[in-house]
Amino acid sequence: RPRLFRFRRDLRLRDNDGLAAAAGGGPVVPVFVLDPETEALGAAAKWRLGRALGELARSLEAAGSRLVSRRGEAGAVLRALARETGAGAVHWSRSYEPEVAARDERIAAALRAEGVAAIAHPGFLLREPWAVETGAGGSYKVFTPFAKAAGAGPVAECAAAPELHAPEKWPRSEDRDAWALGAAMDRGAAVVAGYAAPGEAAALARLDAFLDGPVADYPRDRDRTDRAGTSGLSEHLTWGEIAPRRIWHAAERAGGAAAFRRELLWREFAWHLMWHTPRIAERNWRESWDAFPWRRDNGEAEAWRRGMTGEPMVDAGMREMFVTGRMHNRVRMIVASYLTKNLLTHWTVGLDWFAECLTDWDPASNALNWQWVAGSGPDAAPFFRVFNPRTQAEKFDPEGIYRARWIAGFGDGAPGREARDFFAAAPRAWGLDIADPRPEPIADLGATRARALDAYRATRGG
Ligand code: FAD
Repeated sequence: RPRLFRFRRDLRLRDNDGLAAAAGGGPVVPVFVLDPETEALGAAAKWRLGRALGELARSLEAAGSRLVSRRGEAGAVLRALARETGAGAVHWSRSYEPEVAARDERIAAALRAEGVAAIAHPGFLLREPWAVETGAGGSYKVFTPFAKAAGAGPVAECAAAPELHAPEKWPRSEDRDAWALGAAMDRGAAVVAGYAAPGEAAALARLDAFLDGPVADYPRDRDRTDRAGTSGLSEHLTWGEIAPRRIWHAAERAGGAAAFRRELLWREFAWHLMWHTPRIAERNWRESWDAFPWRRDNGEAEAWRRGMTGEPMVDAGMREMFVTGRMHNRVRMIVASYLTKNLLTHWTVGLDWFAECLTDWDPASNALNWQWVAGSGPDAAPFFRVFNPRTQAEKFDPEGIYRARWIAGFGDGAPGREARDFFAAAPRAWGLDIADPRPEPIADLGATRARALDAYRATRGG
C-alpha cells in the first residue's frame, strides 16, 4: 500500500526523516495541503512559500515523483487522499507550535480511526524542544545555559535523498498557480523575486558559498550592514529547504564557525520557548510589562512601516525588508528599538508588520527577538538600552554604503537599483515620490528616549 507524506515547513528531499520513512520500500505520494492556517500567512511568506513549492515540485519530478497539491482542512484532505490512494500510513514532520501540534494530534486520531497509521517525525530543529532539559528537569529561560546544553552531544547525521517510488495511479492534484499564493503581494512580487533564492539546491549553494569564505570573518562582519557577512540561510531554514543539522555539521567541518553555530542555537532557543511558553508569540513574556504604557498602532508607526521616519538607518532597514523580504539582523534590532522605545509603540505592532513582510518569517524567532529588544522577554536586553540609530549607523555602516543603497538621495550619486526598487514597490496609496525621498525626522531622538525611560521608571516604581 502506498504511504502519504505531508510536506510542511520541510520542503526538501535530503535530511528529511519523515519523507525517508514514508518512502522506505514502497510507493509514496508527496502531498502539500493549503489549509486555512497557511492561507493566513503574511503576504511575503505566502509568496515565498509558493516559490518554494514550485522548486520542490520540480525536484520531486526529477526524482520520478510528483507533488500532489490540495486545498482544504488538513485532516479532511488527508483522510480523503488516504481513501483515494488506499494509503496505509501518513507521515509528516512535527510542528513545535503547540496549537498546530494539538491539531496534528486530532488529525492523527481521525486517521487512525479509519485504520490509517499517522506518524510524526523530527526534522525542523537540531533537537526536540523537550529533549533539552535543565538539571531539575524543566525548560530553559536563559540563552547561555540553554546553548551549552543544546550545543553539546551528538546531532543526527545527514542523509541523502531517498529513492521515491511512484504509486500505480496518481491522485488528482490542484493547480497551484490557481491558488495565487503571491496575490497579496500587491506591491509586486516581481521586485522581491529578484532578491529571493528559493529551493533546496539554492540553499545548499548558499551554505557552500558561506563556508567557503565569509564564515571566517563572521565574528567581525556579522554586524556590518554594509557587508555580506552572514549566511543568508534564514529563508531556507524557515521553509525547511535545508535541515539545521546539515548546516551544523558542515560548519563543524569548516572550522572556526563557533559564533555562527551559536546563532543556530538562538533559533533552537526560540522554538524551545515557543514550545514551553507559547504566549511568547502574543503577550509580554514577563507579565509585569502589561502595565507599561506602550501605544497601540498610530500614525508614527505607519511612517515606520513605510520607511518614512526620517532616520536613515531605520528607513533603510524598513525599505530593505519591503523590497527583499529580509532585513539585516543588526538593523532589525535598530528598527525594533526605535519602534518600541522612541515611538513607544507596542512590540506586537512591529511583530505583525514583520510577519507581513518577511520571507524568512518564523513565528518563534520573530517573537523571541521582538520581546528581546522590547525588554519584555526572557533573557531580554534591558529596556534602558535604547539603540541610537545614528550612533549605530556610524558603527555598523561607517561609510553610509548600506543607507545609500536603500535611501534615494542619501549618497552623492543617482539612486541605485535598491533605492529605486523601493519606490517601484511602494503601494500607490502611500503617495511616495522618489523626487522627495527623505522626510524630516518624525521623532526627536533625545526627547523620545527620555520619554521612554520615564515611562519605564514610572511602571517599575523607581
Ligand atoms: P546568520 O547570521 O547567517 O545566522 C545563521 C542562522 O542562525 C540564521 O539563518 C537563523 O536561522 C539563526 N539566527 C541568527 N540570528 C538569530 C536570532 N537573533 N534569533 C533566532 N535565530 C537566529 N529570524 C528569522 O529567521 N525569522 C524571523 O521572523 C525573525 N525575526 C526577527 C525579528 C527581530 C526584531 C530581530 C531583531 C531578529 C529577527 N530574526 C528572525 C533573527 C535574525 O535577524 C535573522 O535570523 C537573521 O538576520 C537571518 O540572516 P542570516 O540567515 O544571514 O543569519
